[in-house]
Amino acid sequence: MPKAATSARPSTRRSSRLNNQDPTAAQAAETTSMRLRRTRTARRSTRITPSELIRREMNLELRELEVKRKSDELDERSRSLSRKEDEAATILSQIATRQSKSILDDLEEHFTCPLCFEIMAQPFSLNPGACGHSFCALCILRHFFSRLHKACGGWHESVDCPMCRSLLVITPDRVPRLDITFPFVPNRTAAAMCEAMIEKLAQSSAGSHLVVKREESEGNWPPGSEWDMEWGRKKGRSKEEEELEVANSDLACWREGGKLRAEWLKRDREGKKEMQVLLTCWTTFRSQDFVDLKQRLGV
Ligand SMILES: [Zn+2]
Ligand SMILES: [Zn+2]
Ligand SMILES: [Zn+2]
Repeated sequence: MPKAATSARPSTRRSSRLNNQDPTAAQAAETTSMRLRRTRTARRSTRITPSELIRREMNLELRELEVKRKSDELDERSRSLSRKEDEAATILSQIATRQSKSILDDLEEHFTCPLCFEIMAQPFSLNPGACGHSFCALCILRHFFSRLHKACGGWHESVDCPMCRSLLVITPDRVPRLDITFPFVPNRTAAAMCEAMIEKLAQSSAGSHLVVKREESEGNWPPGSEWDMEWGRKKGRSKEEEELEVANSDLACWREGGKLRAEWLKRDREGKKEMQVLLTCWTTFRSQDFVDLKQRLGV
């Protein structure tokens, strides 16, 4: 028994000695076996069973369907967005048109010249305090000079206001005339208002935007699409839309480059010039000068 114990002890000692002597060899052996085990496992996992293959294919198909559904959803969302953008643009331009129209209505209601029925250009009032009526400079000059006696270049009777018949002071034949006999007074408040409102109208551009937007939409959407059907409903225009269209064409005449704006600017310029001439020379103007001015005014 003690013999066996002694024989066992050296063997243990040997193996421990072996381990102590060469630890790297043991580690290397262990690493190799681990690597082998791992390779075997990997090989087993690449082998796919047919049912697994079918399952994966189905999965892929499902994912594809999902992607397509999402892409359709995105398309629809983008279409509805551009539709909403279009509607917003239309509403904005309708608001702008309404605002401009209300400016034009105010202008026509409060600043129409009673002689030419256009928006007053370079407004002047008549001298008598009780009158207070205003007209375009050119209009009131024409009215005044239409009463001038061409043969002698003088006024033989008082000229009256075309509205209230108030009488103006008779223009003295003798020079120098007094300043206070000048028959016209500039209406500066009306002039400033007209100018500001006409400038606002010139800057408004909503209407043209509305028209362009419409044409674009009609061209862009393929016939038969959902949008086209909706558009068809919109094509049957409401009364309000027709009114806006009319307002739009009225406003177009007052925009930059518009016909009425150009005419107004011309009347404004000419009226200012002729009034200026008459005002600066009033005290010294002789009958022939008055006749010349009458001819220039074409009355
Ligand atoms: Zn006028
Ligand atoms: Zn009057
Ligand atoms: Zn005369």
